[in-house]
Amino acid sequence: MTQTQTQHMHAPVEMRHREQQTHTFAEQVDPGVQLSASDQDRCNRVVAQALKHRANEKDIEQVTQQLGRYPRGIVSVAVRCHRCGAPVVVITRPLITDHVARPTPFPTTFYVTNPVAVKAISRLEATGVMNELTHQLQSTHPDPKIDQVKKQYQRAHAMYLEVRHILAHALHDSEEHIAGISAGGMPTRVKCLHALIGQSLVMGPGVNPIGDWALKKIRPEFSLDVCRCQLPAEHSSMKA
Ligand SMILES: [Zn+2]
Repeated sequence: MTQTQTQHMHAPVEMRHREQQTHTFAEQVDPGVQLSASDQDRCNRVVAQALKHRANEKDIEQVTQQLGRYPRGIVSVAVRCHRCGAPVVVITRPLITDHVARPTPFPTTFYVTNPVAVKAISRLEATGVMNELTHQLQSTHPDPKIDQVKKQYQRAHAMYLEVRHILAHALHDSEEHIAGISAGGMPTRVKCLHALIGQSLVMGPGVNPIGDWALKKIRPEFSLDVCRCQLPAEHSSMKA
């Protein structure tokens, strides 16, 4: 299975498991995370940028090459390689209508497309860190440091939903099938580091604590400041 497929499969799985987790740690999650004015501002700015810089033909061509398929529902290339400008993360609309038989809800708003990044993240996932992180998030043993991460992770979830909500409103997309569902396992689990790193890259450091942590972990293999975009081996392995 390619990394792209792996990443792609997380969304529906996550939606299925959503119901089950409400009886565990989710009960402890503060349902009304209030975003500060600056958090709200950050969400607004992400959407404003995405709408101002809509994906053009060249962007779509590059992302198609990266994924090995047409990037359905693409709004914009939100993050690029600082050296060569190759797409790294795209913003995808909440309801995909193009190139699909019927409208498809899409919860993974921030989608990592850069093959070098995708591969580095998949390699980190393969080490089993997600189970360990989920275990820590669901621990009821009081620990100030972990409690802090839990709070930040809930806020990241709320900010993810807020960005998508603003986007949905602007594009007149229905959110009815993905209401309350963010991505990556938030707010109580860690299920897809691609989704969490996607948020960290688009929204900047200090929003998603686990995305930020994972981004540091993959730094030897992927960084926006070091261009590895043209490595030929990466492309051939990405074909579905
Ligand atoms: Zn590059």
